[in-house]
Amino acid sequence: MRIAIVANSGVKSRAAETKLKQALVAAKFPLDEARPDVVITIGGDGTLLSAFHRYASQLNRVRFIGVHTGHLGFYTDWRDYEIDALVEALRNDSGESVSYPLLDILADYEDGTTSHYLALNEATLKRTSGTMRTDVYIKENFFESFRGDGLCVATPTGSTAYSKSNGGAVIHPRLDAMQVTEIASINNRVFRTLAAPMILAPDEWVILRPEPFQDYVMSIDQFTITPQLVTAIRFRIADERIHFARYRHMHFWDRVEDAFIGAKQE
Ligand code: NAP
Repeated sequence: MRIAIVANSGVKSRAAETKLKQALVAAKFPLDEARPDVVITIGGDGTLLSAFHRYASQLNRVRFIGVHTGHLGFYTDWRDYEIDALVEALRNDSGESVSYPLLDILADYEDGTTSHYLALNEATLKRTSGTMRTDVYIKENFFESFRGDGLCVATPTGSTAYSKSNGGAVIHPRLDAMQVTEIASINNRVFRTLAAPMILAPDEWVILRPEPFQDYVMSIDQFTITPQLVTAIRFRIADERIHFARYRHMHFWDRVEDAFIGAKQE
């Protein structure tokens, strides 16, 4: 089993990376950054997002493992003081994994070109100045004309990130769904949107046809893209999924409680 390590630049992460490398070499695991079977990230959920994008072209064969140097995260099952236990789990690996849905984004530009992206958390479309105005279609049917700061489309595992800040629901990652949330929509006598998060079924897609402004900003997870003149963006649940090596199981709602509420009653 070939292993790659992706660590952020924090002092704790660098120390954990050194310890993990030594333990992996001692256990005779080959390190292979180019074609790993398992990618171990050390840092936070943000570090796992970076690793996901680095290995996005190898998703069908790579399994991820997240080590957190702070609190437990949503993509990180291990803590930095558990390196020895993690290497032992790798030695006993039976290939078990759990997979979660991803978001597929296809942007069409006025010059006839297209861009294709995959997101692990979410994608957003916003304008840097002025109100974003876009028609929203579900499948091919017109749904609403949106006016506001922007729209966010998230995966179930992304539902605890930006989507939640927009008032979106927390979605169990076993569900194949995607969620659209509004970012500061305008609702008055003239402009009307649903003004509530929407959760779409696996066979549905959303198309945005924004008015032709030059200053759109698209975000794909931690990346910000300033596209050329966008004519349409389609969001759907991707055919690809992300796979995590499953050596321990943490109940999803316990993780949500730990991250957002804390102080469990004794
Ligand atoms: P960042 O701005 O440095 O950190 C964003 C925070 O979101 C970090 O605390 C990160 O956790 C956490 N996070 C990432 N994915 C999460 C998930 N699936 N569930 C719960 N929390 C999550 O940026 P980053 O670390 O590169 O992460 C990019 C993400 O930031 C985007 O995908 C977006 O979801 C989020 N974001 C949120 C807002 C907002 O809520 N208003 C605005 C912009 C972007 P760790 O500390 O464990 O890394």
